[in-house]
Amino acid sequence: MNLSPEPLVFELSRPGLVGCSLPGSDVPPAELPKNLVRANLDLPELDELTVVRHFTRLSQKNYSIDTHFYPLGSCTMKYNPKANEAAAAEPGWKHIHPLAGDSETQGALELLYKLQESLAEIGGFDSVSLQPAAGAHGELAGVLMIRDCLKARGEGQRKKMLIPDSAHGTNPASCTMAGFSTQTIPSGKDGNIDIKALEAALDDSVAGIMITNPNTLGLFERNITKIAAMVHQAGGLVYGDGANMNALTGVFQPGKSGIDVMHFNLHKTFSTPHGGGGPGAGMVAAVKELAPFLPGPLARRRAGKYELAMPEKSIGRLKAFYGNFGVLVRAYCYVRMQGAEGLRRIAENSVLNANYLRARLEKTYKLKYTRPCMHEFVAMGDVAPGIRTLDIAKRLIDYGFHPPTIYFPLIVPEALMIEPTETESKKTLDGFVDAMLSIAAEAKTAPELLHAAPTTTPVGRLDEVAAARSPVLCFRG
Ligand SMILES: *Cc1c(COP(=O)(O)O)cnc(C)c1O
Repeated sequence: MNLSPEPLVFELSRPGLVGCSLPGSDVPPAELPKNLVRANLDLPELDELTVVRHFTRLSQKNYSIDTHFYPLGSCTMKYNPKANEAAAAEPGWKHIHPLAGDSETQGALELLYKLQESLAEIGGFDSVSLQPAAGAHGELAGVLMIRDCLKARGEGQRKKMLIPDSAHGTNPASCTMAGFSTQTIPSGKDGNIDIKALEAALDDSVAGIMITNPNTLGLFERNITKIAAMVHQAGGLVYGDGANMNALTGVFQPGKSGIDVMHFNLHKTFSTPHGGGGPGAGMVAAVKELAPFLPGPLARRRAGKYELAMPEKSIGRLKAFYGNFGVLVRAYCYVRMQGAEGLRRIAENSVLNANYLRARLEKTYKLKYTRPCMHEFVAMGDVAPGIRTLDIAKRLIDYGFHPPTIYFPLIVPEALMIEPTETESKKTLDGFVDAMLSIAAEAKTAPELLHAAPTTTPVGRLDEVAAARSPVLCFRG
């Protein structure tokens, strides 16, 4: 990354410059359809080299996992093997026409089928749909499936979904989109769901519960089987938010713990970067009763051939054609490359790395929940009077680190949510700890350094309120 604070110059246009010079046309010019011609388009005039340099410089200002440590909690910003990028870019995958028939695409269908099977096994579920394009999309699929399953049981009047107060904001949003109301369930002192509060909320209007395990505090929900049994007993269904599956692969099968339907973020856990603005995949997995409601089509095997088919009572399509196929190729390669043993090591090492950071930082950055964590933990940034988490986060940029997730989950004041992932070395983790400790010392002796941060970037501290209230979303020369 180019961290030099050189000013950003956006207006590079100079009248009369052209990007390329084509040979003269040897055919008569065609009339453009009138509705395509827009007068007064203020297009920039630039030569090719200036354009190339402009975009290349911009790309070098990107912070990425390929350049730096990226401990953004809940996002699992781990290094993803380049071999899987190469596999996804193979012409044989890349150039398949989306309308090609089953007989021409047996290889692609086989890959989808085998990935469905692998993910079902990893999660302990009966059946998997690879259609959804993101975690939130998978949540929407899951709650729509719950809606239809309840209707099929003759229980369509159940409209209340229970959501712990530590949940990701997408959980209540997905419920609302699917026509449910939501009720927040508080966490207890140990950071897990308060069982008494859950008990009190269970009535015959309950459609189900959405549970993230490990939750966004990085804590394993120890009562998961009990909670699922309570909700089932009350006539509801259990949705699992599997965005934190990185802590569990090869160790724990959520489908065996009472969860009925669950999404995994393939673009966190299974070899596609999260948050890069590119495509994702939020596959959704279900136990037997909910499997017929999965979004489709699914790949299946019949008489030695692979084909696509809609599940019997499918909620329908959520995505054109095969879903985000390139992400699925990466996930398949990753699963095969790791094998059962490797998948287990991913979970073990991600938990080990997080606990290493937690143990080294907890004396300086206080914890609200002190028990050992899973793949991430939530510390607090108020290390000195007048210092906020935002100041710590901004100062980390000066030290060359991407800040952790901040001010989430909402139930920890001044939250700093740190997820190192399994792919970082002890040397990198120690470098991060040194930076965090050094910033905490500065917070006491030279707080102005923190208030002024970041000072090494092209633009410094932004006015976050103005950025949210009056965003400038496109360039105007
Ligand atoms: C990332 C995440 C989601 C949403 O996933 P997207 O792919 O970003 O839509 C949901 N829940 C949790 C806990 C997450 O970390």
